[in-house]
Amino acid sequence: MTTAPLAADEIDELATDYEGRPAEELLEWAAERFSERIVLTCSWQHQSSVIIDMVSRLQLDLRIVELDTELLFPETYETRDRLIEKYSLELESITPLRTVQEQAEDEGPELWSRDPNRCCYLRKVEPLLRAIDGMDAWVTGIRRSQTATRANARKLEFDEARGVVKVQPLVNWTDEDVLAYLFAHDVPYNPLHDQGYPSIGCMPCTRRVRPGEDSRAGRWSGLEKTECGLHAPSQQPTASSG
Ligand code: SF4
Repeated sequence: MTTAPLAADEIDELATDYEGRPAEELLEWAAERFSERIVLTCSWQHQSSVIIDMVSRLQLDLRIVELDTELLFPETYETRDRLIEKYSLELESITPLRTVQEQAEDEGPELWSRDPNRCCYLRKVEPLLRAIDGMDAWVTGIRRSQTATRANARKLEFDEARGVVKVQPLVNWTDEDVLAYLFAHDVPYNPLHDQGYPSIGCMPCTRRVRPGEDSRAGRWSGLEKTECGLHAPSQQPTASSG
């Protein structure tokens, strides 16, 4: 059985306490509370830019990790590089166990088009498990307004399956809050957000959204799938993780 690094009622009380407080206060508290056992993962979307800027301004000593599927847009990698340069980031890059080519040899080409849950497991979820191995807390940039599955997310939650406290400082932020922060602090952000991509993932599974569509309509378009499995562990691979 997994032991929570904080008791469930304590997590609940803290989540309530921090709900109305600035994101920076939660980050500061979490960095001190979990010390060297906390990790921030970045996907290089808007939220990553905001949190990186906050971590830098607050001078928090946080382990920062990117989960690089090796299938991201060139603009996403460029955004990462701009943030590394501006903030002198010490970034740890975690990649899948197999390259895209090796995966194609083992599983057949374009696994994402045949079994996206398995592809996401191999290229996102398994690397995440390595990223949080030995950690007590995981900082993520998810927001309630992004999807129905995130609508009840809280500032602090215990991810029972993985045994970490999720620290979600932007969970109650709106799109407008995010943009206001980025412009106010002159933070580099992914230019695809200005080109019809409110949500950005891997190239094969992300398209522009059309006017009137949901902000996540461009992710796994045409499929039932709405989450990669990082934040919704119920979407599991359909075969062994290999
Ligand atoms: S988003 Fe698509 S390409 Fe990326 S890991 Fe998931 S299924 Fe594979």
